[in-house]
Amino acid sequence: MSLLRVEGLTKIYDGQVAALEEVSFGLEPGEWMSVMGPSGSGKTTLINLLGALDTPTRGRVLFDGTDLGRLDPVERTRFRAEKIGFVFQAFHLVPYLTALENVMLAQYFHSLTDEAQARAALERVGLAPRRHHLPAQLSAGEQQRVALARALINQPRLILADEPTGNLDEQNEAVVMQLFHELHRRGHTLIVVTHDPTIGRLADRCLELQHGRLAGMTIYREERDEVIDHLLQQVWMLREGNQSAELAKLRRLEVLDVGGTLARMAERTLVVLREGHVELTRSGEQRASDLIRRYRLAERLFRDTFTLADAEAESTACQFEHILSPAVTDKICAFLDHPRTCPHGNPIPQGDCCQVRAGAAG
Ligand code: ADP
Ligand code: MG
Repeated sequence: MSLLRVEGLTKIYDGQVAALEEVSFGLEPGEWMSVMGPSGSGKTTLINLLGALDTPTRGRVLFDGTDLGRLDPVERTRFRAEKIGFVFQAFHLVPYLTALENVMLAQYFHSLTDEAQARAALERVGLAPRRHHLPAQLSAGEQQRVALARALINQPRLILADEPTGNLDEQNEAVVMQLFHELHRRGHTLIVVTHDPTIGRLADRCLELQHGRLAGMTIYREERDEVIDHLLQQVWMLREGNQSAELAKLRRLEVLDVGGTLARMAERTLVVLREGHVELTRSGEQRASDLIRRYRLAERLFRDTFTLADAEAESTACQFEHILSPAVTDKICAFLDHPRTCPHGNPIPQGDCCQVRAGAAG
């Protein structure tokens, strides 16, 4: 079932400015959609309507079946607090509170003050060491990461980000986008407004607005593919460590709706679910093996050839496992002389190119 259904959404300001006109689309749980369009095309208006910060002139937004237009002001506030994580271009941090206190303020709003949890949220965005700094003592990128930790504190069903990297330099932009990437990988649902086409393309699909109208919808990736890949890799690695892939273990991963994703994986005959255990089918085995091979070869390449530090090599390899084509993977494998293990000593699944070489040698 769709998380979001938008039907004929229209917003007219002051009875004359049509900021948004007849926009309709749906969004599945776990999807990442970017919204692009020139300045003034209605992007912020759309985000405000989706997050119930504003009410439409016509049309409606159905969130999990609830018509947002039918909520009274109190219910709307509650809806925002419980279901939505907002990230804005200006970070909106309270200047006299530390990073930790800013996150805890959001908890207070959700009535669950728990310092350990706030700290964990900052850890997830790599900011635990800076938790006692004030916003003014943090770089723009770090401030945006605090804002992201704050948005995540109540486990929102939908994250709405309006030009989240608009005030950041390139390096900080990359760090923040890596975090969005990570969230998507764990199954979060994201709508991210951006004017940068490179960022727009990171999403599963891109909605384009022009003069308030839906001017195009470009699909880049099949829904949930990365979440599926992530789970396939986890099953593979559990088995490698001589552990059975129990459902309970997979549930402990930071993936939303593990059960739903596994059910879809079973439908697509990638896994078989048997008495609380997950087993790879032949096609699941092949896809997992290809993924692990790409990931570990990329790790080797970044560590040995580009001498990146461990953590950096790992996160870069994470992105590359989804980009490398089979031909390029084999080229890298040959360039590295068909390595048998990754930098951590785990085996790299062999490809056709390794067999050809073994045949030639023997
Ligand atoms: P974007 O975020 O794509 O730059 P906006 O959604 O902010 O675009 O604005 C879309 C159009 O609606 C613009 O023409 C803008 O001037 C107008 N607009 C936005 N907010 C208001 C408002 N509160 N009152 C009147 N007009 C507005
Ligand atoms: Mg805007």
